[in-house]
Amino acid sequence: MQPLFTPPAPILLPIADENTGFPVRRVYCVGRNYADHAREMGHEPNRDPPFFFQKNPDNLLTGGRPFPYPAHSAEVHHEVEFVAVLSKGGSDIAPDEALSHVYGYAVGIDFTRRDLQAAAKAAGKPWTAAKAFEHSAPISAIMPAARIGHPEKARIWLDVNGTRRQAADIADMTWGMADIIAHASRLFTLAPGDVIFTGTPAGVGPVTRGDTITCGIDGIGILFVTVA
Ligand code: MN
Repeated sequence: MQPLFTPPAPILLPIADENTGFPVRRVYCVGRNYADHAREMGHEPNRDPPFFFQKNPDNLLTGGRPFPYPAHSAEVHHEVEFVAVLSKGGSDIAPDEALSHVYGYAVGIDFTRRDLQAAAKAAGKPWTAAKAFEHSAPISAIMPAARIGHPEKARIWLDVNGTRRQAADIADMTWGMADIIAHASRLFTLAPGDVIFTGTPAGVGPVTRGDTITCGIDGIGILFVTVA
């Protein structure tokens, strides 16, 4: 059968210092994975299994392009996150095998229409419009694990217009990367090309047009984004 129209090319993420791109299949995101952020959002931190929502591959924003402030929101928040990209998939992956599925790591921002999310939470409705909107997931170049290993401790931070807003360590995550991959693989069949955002530390807050955001994870990368 021939396709009715030409399907879009896969989204490719840049890999640091390489000419090949990483083709994206799915984007999973973990909610509430740092105790201090759970508290600032009004939740008691707990060790419940991680929960997941999704963004779309073409929501990823690369190449230093500006983030266009979205319609239908007056309160868009930054959430800096530790991101893993997978080159191996599977189901029911054991935690002690999980990191062998990771190709590399990046720093990303989970931009959130917080006003729409609050309304969705109050109404028991899904978060899709709050999370999976256009260009809502800026992401740095991927740093291959073959070069840096699998970081368990590294500073994660985000500045808006030169003022530090978020500062933590990925070691503070409630669920670490291996456990997140293992949990996700029980709920979904993971595959090469999957991208996992692992939640944000405290300090989330609003952005406005004209803001310059700089964020990073030590040893992994730095991401610059302007809000247009
Ligand atoms: Mn998030």
